[in-house]
Amino acid sequence: MLLSIRELTSGYGRIPVLRGVDLDVAEGEIVALLGVNGAGKSTTLRAVSGVLPTWSGTVSFDGTTLGRRTPEARARLGLGHVPEGRGILSSLTVRQNLRLGATARGRGARDVAQDEERLLEVFDALRDKLGAPAGSLSGGQQQMLAVARALIGRPRLVMVDEMSFGLAPILVTQLLGLVARLRAESGTAFLLVEQHSAVLDIADRAYVLSGGAVHTSGPAHELAQSENLVRAYLG
Ligand code: ATP
Repeated sequence: MLLSIRELTSGYGRIPVLRGVDLDVAEGEIVALLGVNGAGKSTTLRAVSGVLPTWSGTVSFDGTTLGRRTPEARARLGLGHVPEGRGILSSLTVRQNLRLGATARGRGARDVAQDEERLLEVFDALRDKLGAPAGSLSGGQQQMLAVARALIGRPRLVMVDEMSFGLAPILVTQLLGLVARLRAESGTAFLLVEQHSAVLDIADRAYVLSGGAVHTSGPAHELAQSENLVRAYLG
């Protein structure tokens, strides 16, 4: 397994949120993480990226137990995180935002230029906007930028928190299609927190979190067959 989470507990201050999460992402796999508001989806991503501490249990990435490693050290191992709210710096240009992703992983200038070109082939809408302030982009373009920034430096796994938030359904389908393409072309694995049902069309497997633990998991196409599940957790 590329990412392996076992009996993970974590929370905020002394307030527990995760109560023993078990979750795996294989090399090159797309995994959806579903659940109602407050189930602990964002908290899971934060604990994996190291923004929140692991209280107990283990998170291992590519065979390395992450323990108390900092978010920066985890990023250098190839773990990308697009947080809720995207984290785009609106007064910087699109290109400056993209290059921040490279700085985080300590990449050389030539590698960065190559990665940038490869990503612009996929996120074509950003090409004409490289010199524009990121704040002038549409919501969909900002989301593309956030994902592209996480992909600079060729991470092995990118975790994206509600990519579809606030976007029109057609844009959501388009963005998910780009994720599927990126996986096919580069073998990057994705862990996607989503509330949009289209995620089950591109995911290999899905987990449903409830009350800080895994409630259900299985192949995405099987979970997509469950009307109750789709109605309860997906829009
Ligand atoms: P949502 O879609 O609402 O983000 P989620 O499944 O991602 O849902 P989390 O954001 O992980 O849920 O929140 C899980 C629990 O942790 C909730 O009870 C929430 O109130 C609490 N929580 C989230 N962020 C913080 C924080 N910064 N400080 C304290 N409690 C928090």
